[in-house]
Amino acid sequence: MRISPLCLAALMIAACSKDAPEQPAVDESTALDSITQEALAAHIAYLADDAREGRMAGQKGYDEAAQYVADRFDEMGMTPGGDDGWYQPVPLISYRIDEESTTLIAHRDGEDTALQYKEHYVMGGDKVRAETGVRAEVVYVGFGVHAPEVGYSDYDGVDVEGKIVAMFGNAPATLPSEERAYYSSGRTKAQEAVRRGAIGMIGLRSRRFDEFVPWDRVKAQAGTRPGMAWVTLTGEPSDYYPEILGSAFISTDVAHELFAGTPISFAEARDATEASTAASVPLGFEVSIGKRTTHEVITSPNVVGIVPGTDPELKNEYIVFTAHLDHNGVGAPVDGDAIYNGMYDNAMGTSLLIETARAVAKSPAERSMVFIALTAEERGLLGSDYYAHYPTVPSDAIIANINLDMPLFLYPVADIIAFGSEHSSLENTVGEAIVAEGFTLTPDPMPEENLFRRSDQYSFVRRGVPSVYLKPGFTSTDPSIDGKAVQDEHRKNHYHQPSDDLSRPVDWDSTVRFARANARIGYAIASEESRPAWNEGDFFGEKFGR
Ligand SMILES: [Zn+2]
Repeated sequence: MRISPLCLAALMIAACSKDAPEQPAVDESTALDSITQEALAAHIAYLADDAREGRMAGQKGYDEAAQYVADRFDEMGMTPGGDDGWYQPVPLISYRIDEESTTLIAHRDGEDTALQYKEHYVMGGDKVRAETGVRAEVVYVGFGVHAPEVGYSDYDGVDVEGKIVAMFGNAPATLPSEERAYYSSGRTKAQEAVRRGAIGMIGLRSRRFDEFVPWDRVKAQAGTRPGMAWVTLTGEPSDYYPEILGSAFISTDVAHELFAGTPISFAEARDATEASTAASVPLGFEVSIGKRTTHEVITSPNVVGIVPGTDPELKNEYIVFTAHLDHNGVGAPVDGDAIYNGMYDNAMGTSLLIETARAVAKSPAERSMVFIALTAEERGLLGSDYYAHYPTVPSDAIIANINLDMPLFLYPVADIIAFGSEHSSLENTVGEAIVAEGFTLTPDPMPEENLFRRSDQYSFVRRGVPSVYLKPGFTSTDPSIDGKAVQDEHRKNHYHQPSDDLSRPVDWDSTVRFARANARIGYAIASEESRPAWNEGDFFGEKFGR
């Protein structure tokens, strides 16, 4: 068995030996060696099989995948950590827009122009109301960001009370990456718009967005999947802004037409945002937005397994490992294939989660570890947000979150990026574990993607928990491979496409070492003297820390 530093310090004290596991002792390195390519490949083959139908939350394929994870946790001898055995059922509202009912009409110079759904715009449903509609003036508000602490505001000098705000995604590139991640979130933007009295929102497309997600793809996906929200114990949907009576995303062609003849052209608006310059201005015309939505109440489970700690005190603290189990189900066919298997996103992460659990279950550490295969990440980080609000272990006892989402092993990987590690004491811990498995640690190479808030760790960050999100970096051990080019090709052609399936290449040697590094991170945090802490004065620590 592993002997904790506390037990060593208190050598011969009965409490230590009393808590020793009864099964034959396994040391940490033997536990790490139990992680195999064969097991990882078997999990991926099951989870990303066409028979799972893309693991959409609330559907049969997801439920089968959840059962599969629960069976693996069970055979490893873990402790069920849900509210209902291995499961934490997450109550969800699933809603679909009535596509026939949508309207977007521009009212300019005494003329009404009805735009066409999909051809010109797309929109999502309302989380609660069956029918909504709004008509108001449109005000261009850049990114829709108000960040006084860094001296940036898109709202200076414009009044949006009773107006529809038109904005781009993301946030100014000049913001420090943490602030940029925080302010680029749709939640932060909606809260700011509502606080200022806006009653509708129009989403605009950046040049970068046009390049990575062509409008044809947006059109093809529109209306193919339900929107979802989790429901509080008092029956309220999460992140609902009833003040917003209508919202739509418009195509670039339409944006050019609508901005023409206003104080700013669409090209000038794009130039301004690319230069991180606020150029907000009323556009001088009105639009009407309308739609009907149908609603259904469903549940979909998080799967939760616990490896209890061995130290009588420290076992009351929990390191939470997460990977989302869901993906995008069946949708618009691409080259005749309509199943969005989500092999890398996130059968891969889930498989790594299962094998990390297998290792530490063989040789438990001082602190406890919780392993959660999460539901409804693809519907808006819902399973993690629900768990972070209603944890199955005491909330204060969650000391860290390690999240895996779409780790790409498309080539022999040389480096790992630990998004978010620079915010807390986890940086050293994670760095050492990664180096021990032959990788190097690389700082976030693409802060413009705001990845730290785009996966499930952010649900824990928002509850004050120091967290990291691990992904392979852009460097290959094979100098002839341009890792960034290979990953960009995946993001462009396979990310959220039916072709993210079992035909994608996998470098298994890197995958196995990454799983081992993940388990090492758990062991390291579990045995440290004090729990992880946010860095002094850190943005997220100050904003959300407890
Ligand atoms: Zn994902």
